Amino acid sequence: MIKDYEVEKTLRKAYDVCIIGAGPAGITLALRLAEAGWRVVLLEGGGHEYSPRSQAFYRCTSTGLELYAEETRLRYLGGTSNHWAGRCRPFTVSDFANAPPVDLPGWPIPYGEIERYLPAAMDIVDLPQGAEFRTVNAGLGGDEFDADRFLLSPPTRFAQKYAKALDETAGLDVFINCNCVDLDFDEAAGQLKAAVVSDYARNRQRVVASTFILATGAIENARQLLNSTTLVGAGVIKKDGLTGCCLMEHLNVDMGTFILKDGQGTEPRQYYTTDTFVSEYRAGKGNVSTTVLTDVQTYGRTAEVKHFLENLACEMGLASKIDFVAKFSCPGDGVISTMIEQFPNAHSRISLLDEKDELGVSKVNVNWALSATDRHTIKCIGSELAKQFAEMGLGFVKLNDYVYDTDLALKVQPHAHHMGTTRMAASPEFGVVDSDCKVFGTDNLYVAGSSIFATGGASNPTMPLLQFALRLADHLDARLKAARGERV
Ligand SMILES: Cc1cc2nc3c(=O)[nH]c(=O)nc-3n(C[C@H](O)[C@H](O)[C@H](O)COP(=O)(O)OP(=O)(O)OC[C@H]3O[C@@H](n4cnc5c(N)ncnc54)[C@H](O)[C@@H]3O)c2cc1C
Repeated sequence: MIKDYEVEKTLRKAYDVCIIGAGPAGITLALRLAEAGWRVVLLEGGGHEYSPRSQAFYRCTSTGLELYAEETRLRYLGGTSNHWAGRCRPFTVSDFANAPPVDLPGWPIPYGEIERYLPAAMDIVDLPQGAEFRTVNAGLGGDEFDADRFLLSPPTRFAQKYAKALDETAGLDVFINCNCVDLDFDEAAGQLKAAVVSDYARNRQRVVASTFILATGAIENARQLLNSTTLVGAGVIKKDGLTGCCLMEHLNVDMGTFILKDGQGTEPRQYYTTDTFVSEYRAGKGNVSTTVLTDVQTYGRTAEVKHFLENLACEMGLASKIDFVAKFSCPGDGVISTMIEQFPNAHSRISLLDEKDELGVSKVNVNWALSATDRHTIKCIGSELAKQFAEMGLGFVKLNDYVYDTDLALKVQPHAHHMGTTRMAASPEFGVVDSDCKVFGTDNLYVAGSSIFATGGASNPTMPLLQFALRLADHLDARLKAARGERV
């Protein structure tokens, strides 16, 4: 049943599973585990709808590249699925088999571990059973770029689609406006004893369970761990350790423009780097979208022009606006956008600030940073694309100079895909959670969501994070049964 914690604080004395955060990961886990017969509580910080008061808890500072960390997350029931676009692309075998060319390992498990959960994850986001991830165009012709393969979810809004199930599933308590403000770890037992929750009047209460899952999104998962004085005091979470490090995004680089040769169709195309490209260049993966602007449209980048014109009369700062318009691509130009893999690097990280939020939780600074290997990936994808366009007789690509001159500042945008801040590894030397998604050094604290990604490939994260959530639900079901003495 869904209850408002501001009105009703009727927690059970103890739960089998306590899940913090009701986005796609938390909702999926809560329903699976409650349907399996466990007593589950799902704690959601926001309400049924967006509210500035809840969203304010996502405010943070930034010292690196601009991640728009507040704008690219939503803090209410359903989480960021209230905004997501629904693009789904599964990981592949090579995402898990290839170690990244950096000083951190890749995945400690093979792709087969989550592949079997693909049909169920597709069902959760309303993709037809058995549907093939399809291409919208042919590949580029050489060995380096295939056509990209993806499917579009409607997109599924988790709070709406699963409202009835969240309200009616037996054994499941859902509390909205219920903010987790601390994690209470018992060092001697090696166990988390309670999640501490608060209402807006700062009344705190302990939620007791035998198993806990953090599912608050990649930035908050790390923040909650770093904020826990008992986890830090016990040395389980080290402030200068890997928790919060390796923040990865998918890179949307403004690569440049192109002109198509006569006779080439002007429909948008999407390409994806092959495994041959990755091994040949020792570079990351990437999606490249090429679009010819045939008309001034009222969405995407052209919406910014419309917005500019609408606001010209009432806003100042004309110099930057004129610069923006001067550089804007006109109808007829081809524009190239990308979704490129970022490799894990420890300098790209979130860390705690001294300043606290309204409920006494330390705020975070986001330092989103790229490394030389990322610039190498961008350069290889750009130059290989330009080469292929010429060789295949498609047209002419003009790359922006920062694509091949890696000393110049890069023009890059994030994709709202936050990953890697509690990365999975075979040992605590290289990660925060083990191959079962359990926090190293604890016996009963798990993490769900894309913060566990060891590498992010160039696949949209939501469907894979659902595959991991389904795998975790199976693991916990078996573990809880074993603890109860049942045969599994
Ligand atoms: C504009 C946009 C478009 C996107 N498009 C795509 C796409 O096409 N394909 C794709 O794969 N992904 C896309 N994404 C990313 C996608 O939305 C996320 O991958 C997904 O929502 C992550 O799910 P999650 O459950 O891990 O986290 P979230 O959805 O962020 O949910 C976390 C939940 O935790 C709650 N919470 C946070 N802190 C606390 C606390 N202290 N106590 C209690 N509760 C708390 C939040 O309120 C929230 O409900 C997009 C994102 C944006 C912004």
